[in-house]
Amino acid sequence: VSLYDLYVETFACPSCASPIRRAQTKFGVPGLREYRDGDVVEWFRGSALHNGGRLEGGNMRGAARASCDGCGLSVFLLIRVREDVIAGVGAGSVRRARPTDYGAKFVGFAGLDDQEA
Ligand SMILES: [Zn+2]
Repeated sequence: VSLYDLYVETFACPSCASPIRRAQTKFGVPGLREYRDGDVVEWFRGSALHNGGRLEGGNMRGAARASCDGCGLSVFLLIRVREDVIAGVGAGSVRRARPTDYGAKFVGFAGLDDQEA
């Protein structure tokens, strides 16, 4: 059973600059959706963000993880969601993953400010 969705766009590995072409996300309804820039996120109505719910306004930066085929690095990034629409990788958000990135209830940050909280 897959409990994540995929973000299918290309971004550069922060270590070796190889192209990474997909990332796993945890926001919205989980279940093998493939999101590309411009797609509308499917939310669980009335649920908390960490259960797939929507923030007011539909604006957030969703956490995602990926691994680089070039160097094997585990990568963390933030995917921007603007008014429920996938709006690209957050500027400057792609970095080496840390163990603290993956709390059970953490799926991302509210709002579109690219500065991490
Ligand atoms: Zn790499």
